[in-house]
Amino acid sequence: MAAFEHFTEHVNAAAKLAGLSEKERKALEKPDRVLRADLEVALDDGSTATFSAYRIQFNNARGPYKGGIRFHPEADEDEVSALAAMMMVKCAVVGIPFGGAKGGVTVDPKKLSTREREALARAYVRAFAGDLGPDQDIPAPDVYTNPSVMAHMLDEYEKITGKSQPAMITGKPIALGGSLGRDTATADGAIAVLEALFEDEGVHASELTVAVQGAGNAGSQAARRLAHVGAKVVALSDSSGTLEDAVGLDVAAMLEGKEQKKEFSAVGKVAPVEAVLSAKADLFVPAALEEQLREDTIGGLSTRYVLEIANGPTTPEADVLLAKRGVTVVPDVLANAGGVAVSYFEWIQGRTGDRWGKEAIETRLTETMRSAYREVANFAKEHDTTLREAAYALALSRIAEAMRERGRV
Ligand code: GLU
Repeated sequence: MAAFEHFTEHVNAAAKLAGLSEKERKALEKPDRVLRADLEVALDDGSTATFSAYRIQFNNARGPYKGGIRFHPEADEDEVSALAAMMMVKCAVVGIPFGGAKGGVTVDPKKLSTREREALARAYVRAFAGDLGPDQDIPAPDVYTNPSVMAHMLDEYEKITGKSQPAMITGKPIALGGSLGRDTATADGAIAVLEALFEDEGVHASELTVAVQGAGNAGSQAARRLAHVGAKVVALSDSSGTLEDAVGLDVAAMLEGKEQKKEFSAVGKVAPVEAVLSAKADLFVPAALEEQLREDTIGGLSTRYVLEIANGPTTPEADVLLAKRGVTVVPDVLANAGGVAVSYFEWIQGRTGDRWGKEAIETRLTETMRSAYREVANFAKEHDTTLREAAYALALSRIAEAMRERGRV
């Protein structure tokens, strides 16, 4: 099933609980605008390469479009649309005044030099500049993009517009107006939600064994945070393989090794990539790409909890099976919304020129995530449903209300 169909399945499942009319449901399943471009980039060997690029603006009833840009060989229109739709949902789940958007370039960034990657970032902004802006559509990092890519995008945008506009993009380097805490925000937000859930369940993170899939920004920070609160990380994977240790990995040392040697297979003995899915653990943290938990991959999954730090890691079929097995899944649109929440704080700082201290960011992030969790958990309990369905129902009803107020539906 294609990624966008997963989103519409979630919407259909939650439509009744959200009180949506048929017209509203249909309106919420359609992007406002699909922007496409072919980006031409001069390569270091003197040749020119062309890459397909997208920016999909999903819905701006609650505020400007917001969402990251990924550089990935499998990024395509279907995937980017689904991710844009999820941004719309997650901003509404945590109550921040943004709509949904996502961007993507179909490229393997590992094959680009630093100069070529910068040229690609600048070409992306030249192609879409007219549709981006602090009150219009605000990009951020996503898979295989980072603060340095954001810096080049901001620089290109300001060259085109001739104005300083730090709020046009988030996830920037601190020197260009980036926010403290943005680099760890996704993991910090996820841990805040997990702690709130565990308080409800009388569980302590320090008693847990954990398997983490993915060691990009969010995955590695989550593994670090979980180890820090005393959980035993028994499996940690990247695209080269899975590191395993039943008594708990030295997460900091493994991640330092990866930084130096690029991949886990060069750091230590690794099991296959899929081994992380069948590690004996209490908590599984998918923090890589979409559709990792499917009917055909969850046979060996023995965990009691799943914390979705990746976007869309669980297919709707697997979701049903996990619910039947009594696994509590903290859905992506709640679990990973800390990233965009701190992007919102960065956007406010960019617009006001104010600078917030680390403590202010941490406090506000924790409050945002805990209160979103409380609302979702209460709704799920009241309607005897999963956290995912509750999160979608709450978010969709908020977006539909904004659309009604505007007279759009
Ligand atoms: N790419 C991140 C996400 O999927 C962050 C988006 C943002 O900060 O705008 O939530």
